[in-house]
Amino acid sequence: MLKLENISAQYGSVQALRDVDLEVKKGSIVALLGSNGAGKTTTLKVISSLLRPTEGNVLFEGEKLNRKPPNVIVKRQIIHCPENRQVFPELAIMENLRLGSYVRKDRQQIKDDLERVLTYFPRLRERLSQIAGTLSGGEQQMLAIGRALMGKPKLLLLDEPSLGLAPIIVREIFEIIKDINENGTSILLVEQNVHLALAISDFACVLENGHVALSGTAAELKDNDQVRELYLGIKS
Ligand code: ATP
Repeated sequence: MLKLENISAQYGSVQALRDVDLEVKKGSIVALLGSNGAGKTTTLKVISSLLRPTEGNVLFEGEKLNRKPPNVIVKRQIIHCPENRQVFPELAIMENLRLGSYVRKDRQQIKDDLERVLTYFPRLRERLSQIAGTLSGGEQQMLAIGRALMGKPKLLLLDEPSLGLAPIIVREIFEIIKDINENGTSILLVEQNVHLALAISDFACVLENGHVALSGTAAELKDNDQVRELYLGIKS
């Protein structure tokens, strides 16, 4: 479904990605792992065309997306749910959700998707007119995921959904992520909580200094000594 071929990217003179190959197969969850500054967020930015790669190709359903603007990426139903939520803090929940569907014209489906989002997140339904900036961190994360779902993603790019949230909320959100996937959305998941990420993913890829250091099925990576020691804190 999505293929990155030899992607390199830089910010000015900082080389953030070097020859990255990555694949997300239709229907799968792929975890993108790695320590701070490894290039995970940059990879998502390249896919959603917020950053143009210096080398390589982004292919989605066989189409080359490299030079397409971000709004075209959204139309192709690749939806980015960014790090730190980034909801519109001055707008109400409902307005944030509506903005998630701004490129769509299928009104009845938009209504159905709104109903689905509010069923996933009853807390949002209870307070549709509340200003997003006044929501708790967990509620803002729910809103960010809900807004992304309003874009009807074929591929959802999720950047650190667990960041700064209480364990109980994280569990709730991860169950919903699994359910979103089971309902047909493929997911590329950037996550610091490696244990949790590997538990719901089919495949995983570890970035180190902008380069793919390891990749394989989630089960293979869970058994890998380096992953166990560096990311899961288990001594072999
Ligand atoms: P984290 O887990 O801390 O979010 P990450 O794996 O997502 O890290 P990136 O945010 O992709 O890492 O950053 C990769 C590299 O690019 C880092 O060295 C970072 O300092 C650099 N970088 C990221 N954004 C910029 C920017 N806007 N300008 C300059 N350098 C940047």
